[in-house]
Amino acid sequence: MSNPIDIKKEVASPKRPTLMASPVASRAAMFESIPLVSPMATPSVLQNPKTPPVVSQEERNNLPIHGELPHVRCIARARIPTVQGPEIFLHLYENNLDKKEHLAIVFGEDIRSQSLFKRRDGDTQQDRMTRGAYVGKLFPGRVCADKDDQLGLELHFDANGDLIRKPETTFAGDVLTRIHSECYTGETAWSARCDCGEQFNEAGRLMGDSGHGCIVYLRQEGRGIGLGEKLKAYNLQDLGADTVQANLMLRHPADGRSFSLATAILVDLGLLSIKLLTNNPDKILAVEGKNRDVKVVERIPMVPLAWLSTEEGIKSKEIEGYLSTKIERMGHLLEKPLKI
Ligand SMILES: [Zn+2]
Repeated sequence: MSNPIDIKKEVASPKRPTLMASPVASRAAMFESIPLVSPMATPSVLQNPKTPPVVSQEERNNLPIHGELPHVRCIARARIPTVQGPEIFLHLYENNLDKKEHLAIVFGEDIRSQSLFKRRDGDTQQDRMTRGAYVGKLFPGRVCADKDDQLGLELHFDANGDLIRKPETTFAGDVLTRIHSECYTGETAWSARCDCGEQFNEAGRLMGDSGHGCIVYLRQEGRGIGLGEKLKAYNLQDLGADTVQANLMLRHPADGRSFSLATAILVDLGLLSIKLLTNNPDKILAVEGKNRDVKVVERIPMVPLAWLSTEEGIKSKEIEGYLSTKIERMGHLLEKPLKI
């Protein structure tokens, strides 16, 4: 897929100690500079954000995407404690483009969906708590969704029943965001053909640390071609094709994904200013859209863990080919580390 805008490739060079034969004294000094434990994945990304590319409105207007956002509605939200520690609030969406159940994985109780919290005809406080439109924390015997007396929090609504976003109860600020497309093989079947599972985990870890974040999880498996076609593409790759060639041989676009649903979901959540975790320049523009409903104020690169540490990350011959294709054929903003 050609990148419509000429964005200079940036170098996300991993910090790796160089282990070469050296005299004993200098070798001792060298070892002092090596961390004793393997570094956390993408350790410095939050301190090392990238300025997003500057794009003119004319260039934006030429993007092959529609100006109108699709309609989305959050139909349920629930708190999920996680095995890593931080709680997430899982939001399930319906929309007017497809019949799929797209999701928002939200870090922070105070990130609120406008469509979920809107007062509906005949809505009771019990209805609102059941669909997750409550403030604070649920507990046995609670009767009011809009007010949590224990935490001293109360929501307010305008005459149309729309939530009034007050800073005491509703988050507003630049938020860590990732737009993630479902990958059954990488996230569930332990595949080492791609880095989707690793990127998903990393995004979650960074958002858990930051306290706020949102992963928009779109049900578009295999860059939009579906799982069955993706499995065929894997066989073509084993026969020698790369990721892009395999999709084209199956008469699919190299990347058939659409991100307008992600933009609509972010707008619904009130996340209009985001720090996007991505290496993909096309994704920045696709999420911002023609009208810049959502603004990417920072780009935070996702460096493969295997490039940062010899102990962590995916090790397979397939992943090397996959990452090379992303960089060389799809314009991703990473450069391969030099082999030492
Ligand atoms: Zn994947």
